[in-house]
Amino acid sequence: MDPWSSQGIDEEEYDRLIEEFGISRLDEITRQKILNNRFIRRKIIFGHRSIEDIFKAMEQNKPWAVISGIKPSGPFHLGTLTTALEIVEFQKMGAKAYYCIADIESWEDNGLTYEEAEEYAVDNLADILALGLDYSPEKAYIWRQSQEPIVKDVCFKVGRLVTQNMLNAIYGEKPFGLYLASLIQVGDITLPQIMDGPQPTIVPVGIDQDPHIRLTRDLTRRYYKKFFLPGATYHKLLPGLDGTDKMSKRNPNSYFTFNEPLNSIEKKVRGSFTGGRKNREEQEQLGGIPQICMIYKILMYHFEPDDEKLAEEFEACVKGELLCGHHKKSCVERVLKFIKEHRKKKEKLIDKARELLDLD
Ligand code: SF4
Repeated sequence: MDPWSSQGIDEEEYDRLIEEFGISRLDEITRQKILNNRFIRRKIIFGHRSIEDIFKAMEQNKPWAVISGIKPSGPFHLGTLTTALEIVEFQKMGAKAYYCIADIESWEDNGLTYEEAEEYAVDNLADILALGLDYSPEKAYIWRQSQEPIVKDVCFKVGRLVTQNMLNAIYGEKPFGLYLASLIQVGDITLPQIMDGPQPTIVPVGIDQDPHIRLTRDLTRRYYKKFFLPGATYHKLLPGLDGTDKMSKRNPNSYFTFNEPLNSIEKKVRGSFTGGRKNREEQEQLGGIPQICMIYKILMYHFEPDDEKLAEEFEACVKGELLCGHHKKSCVERVLKFIKEHRKKKEKLIDKARELLDLD
C-alpha cells in the first residue's frame, strides 16, 4: 500500500489487506458497541487496530483521543469529508479531537510552500468546523506541522530507531522528504499522549494510510514504552464518481470539491457511474445493482442521513422500482442542499479558522 498514491483499491483487495497486515475485522459484537457512529453502522469502517482500548476508556470514563488531519493542498472533497466526519463523530462520542494541518507533507508531496498552504489550511479548517468540530480548548487541539515543535522533536527522537531498510520495507523507495514527513506523522499521532499523558488514541484513516499506522505503532512500542499503542479505524475508499478506481485530482470527472460552482457539481453527479441497466425495460425486469453504483455510494457515505430511507432506496433499486434518472435527480438535490447549507455555515467560520491557526 502506498499512502501517497492516487491508485484505488479493488473491493476484493480489502480481505487480502486485512490478512496481510494483521488488521482486526470490525465484528458484529464490536459494531454493536458503537452503533451511534454512522460509518460503523453502515460498514464503511470495516477494520481496526486496538479499538478495545477505546471501549475500556469509555466504560471507565477515562480520557481518550481521536487524531487525524488534512494535507492542505486543495479544497475539501468527498474523500477528505469522510475522515473529517469520522473525527467529529468520535469527538461526539467523548474523545478529545486533535486535528493536524499537514503542511510539511504538502510541501514534501506537492511542493507547496508553507505560505502557499496557508489559504488551503484556513479553508480546510473552516470546513471541518462547519461540519461540527467543537474547537473549544478542552475538546480540541489544532496545529500546523510546520509550527508545532513537538512533532518535529518526535521526528528526531524516533529517527535514531529508523533505518533505510525499514522505510523501504514499509513505503518502498521514496524521496527522502516523504520519509521525513512520515516521521513527522509519528509525531502527530503521538502528540495527544505527549501533551495530555498516556491515553488510548484512535486514528480514523482510509486503508491506504495503514503504512503510517504500522510505522507509528512500531516506533511507539520501542520509544514511548508507557504510551498506549495508537489504534486506528479503517474505512473503505470511495471510488471515482465516473467509475474509475479512486477520486483523483488527475481526473477532474472523478470528484468534485466543496468550492466548485454548483452547476459543475451537478454535472459531475449526474454523470456518475451507476449500476443501472441498458434501458427502462431491463431495469424494471432485472433491477439495478446499487452495490457498484456511485449514486448509491455517495448517498450511503454522506448525503442520506436516514438509514431507513437508504435501505428503502436500495430495495427499490434491486427490485427495479427505482429508475436511475429519477434517483440521480433526487441525489443531486440532496448533494446541492448539503453544499449550500455547508457553505453558509463555513462562511461564518473563516475568521475563526484563521484565528485558530494564528494567521492574520
Ligand atoms: S436506481 Fe439508483 S442506486 Fe440503482 S443503479 Fe440506478 S442510480 Fe444506482
